[in-house]
Order: sequence, then structure tokens, then C-alpha cells
Amino acid sequence: MALIFDIKRFAVNDGPGIRTTIFLKGCPLHCVWCHNPEGIDAKPVKLYTRKKCIGCKSCVDACPQHNLTLTPDGIKDSGRCILCGRCTDECPTLALQMAGKEWAMDDLMTVMEKERQVMEESGGGVTVCGGEPLMHADYLVTLLTELRRRGFHVTVDTTLYASQSTVTRVMPLTDLFLIDLKTMDSERHQRLTGVPNRQILDNIRYVSEQGTRYWIRIPLIKGVNADDDGIRRAAQFLKGLPTPPEVVNILPYHDIGKGKHERMGTHYNPEGIDMGEPDEATLNRIISLFGNMGLNAKVGG
Ligand code: SF4
Ligand code: SF4
Repeated sequence: MALIFDIKRFAVNDGPGIRTTIFLKGCPLHCVWCHNPEGIDAKPVKLYTRKKCIGCKSCVDACPQHNLTLTPDGIKDSGRCILCGRCTDECPTLALQMAGKEWAMDDLMTVMEKERQVMEESGGGVTVCGGEPLMHADYLVTLLTELRRRGFHVTVDTTLYASQSTVTRVMPLTDLFLIDLKTMDSERHQRLTGVPNRQILDNIRYVSEQGTRYWIRIPLIKGVNADDDGIRRAAQFLKGLPTPPEVVNILPYHDIGKGKHERMGTHYNPEGIDMGEPDEATLNRIISLFGNMGLNAKVGG
């Protein structure tokens, strides 16, 4: 059983049409810019939003571990938390929230069915992302099988950092892969994400050999991977694949993960890597570079 930490309705950037996106918890990568750091740990994670807290102490009183204290700076955690969730259940303002819970398949499908009409009329469907969904191969296969049985268009948003046997299991149940490509430089990839990129590149080639539909998504970050040489290497790699990607989505950097780290009590970009949003000239140049190689690249998506 994988935990789900969010379900996003009316998602328009997670594949074709309007989609419902299911976020599975747990990821083997630790990208410094991660937009969903609450999804990295496979266990539940507590988030605290200071400005929503009214100081009622319901959480303090509910905690069986006597872990929480109300201070002038808000609720403080003493490190004895067993993630039982009682404090978040009692919080009247959602200042304290728990990311990650088990969903019975029937309940999950009830949510998906509610969105069926809007998804189908827009040419959309269901997207499963994370975290890294391939980290939960058995659960993912069960989930995708059920979605396909019900006739939903199914997209899997993945890093492809997984064994080829896992990709082989998931591929026939997937209509479209959205695959992240961060950088072609394995050393840099290791420094920025915690893992090398060899397995990812091999799996991209494997998916392209099998003829499964896929889009590539490149988070473009000034100071990290927005240099022409690196982008040219990525374009050459993609162009040389047996079946190039249908689309290359260029996703300009933003620091949405920062606020989530604050709510989790953890540090965003602890090594202080210089990261920034690419300017319009850079974006235009990179789109042209892909276009000149015969690849269909666009900003966003
Ligand atoms: S999750 Fe449970 S143990 Fe942790 S702080 Fe909340 S009530 Fe206490
Ligand atoms: S229950 Fe919620 S609002 Fe009340 S003190 Fe705790 S975190 Fe703040």
C-alpha cells in the first residue's frame, strides 16, 4: 500500500486535457528544487502553517506523546512524534496537517468517477505522480489496472529511476509517460538529485524503443542546467532515440518548495546552490535550439 499525499482536480499541466492527479508518497531522488518535498519521505509528514494557528492548544492536548508545546513563536515539536495524526485531526484551522494517508481503492475510484465527465470531455484522464510512483511497483500496477479497467486515460509522471523490470510491468498499463530529464551530466545529476542519471537515460531509451507514448519534461534552472551546452546534449540525446518524445516541456524554475520546507521545519536548498528563474531570452533560445533539432519543445505543460 502506498500513501497518497494529494489529489489534484482540474489539473491542466499533467498531461493532455483536464486531469485528476494522484500523488504517491516516497521518492528515491532528493532534487534541491523539489516542488513537493512533503512527498519525498514514504512515511507521513506533518506540516505546520504558523499564520493559520490561533493558539487554541487543541493539538497540544491531543498528543499522546506530549510532543507539542505552544510557544510565542507557535507550536514547537520536541522530536517524540509517532505520526499518529491526532493533533492534525483536532486542529480546527488546518494549521497542522498530515501529508500522506492510505486510501481504499473504492474510495479513490469514487473520487475519480466524480471527475469522469470533465476529464473525458476535455480529452484528459488520470495522472499518477509523486514522489516517484515507480517506487511502489506493486501498488502502482494495481492502481493502473483498476483505472484502465474503468476506461480512464492513464498518464504516469516519473523520473524513470527504477529497474527496467519495473518499467516493463508498468508500460502496458500506461497510455503516456511524462518523464523528467534534469541534466545529461551524471556528476551534476548526482549532486542535485542524490542519484546518477545512467539508469534514467537507459530507461528513456528503453521506453522509446518500445513505442510507448512519452513526453519529456525539463525543469530549467538558471545556474544549474540552463546552459546551451547542456541543453544541446539533451536535445542530441532525445533526437537520437528510436522514437523521439512527442513533446519536450520546458518548465522554468520557481521556488514553491521553499514554503513547504518552512512548514515541515526542514531546510530548502541547504547547500545554498545558486538557482534562479531563466529569463525570456534564455527560454526563447532553448526552444529554438530544440526546434532546430526537429523536436517539439514548448514552455510549460
Ligand atoms: S502526530 Fe501524534 S504523536 Fe505526533 S505530534 Fe501529532 S498527536 Fe503527537
Ligand atoms: S490545534 Fe491548530 S490552531 Fe490550535 S494551537 Fe494547534 S496548530 Fe494552532
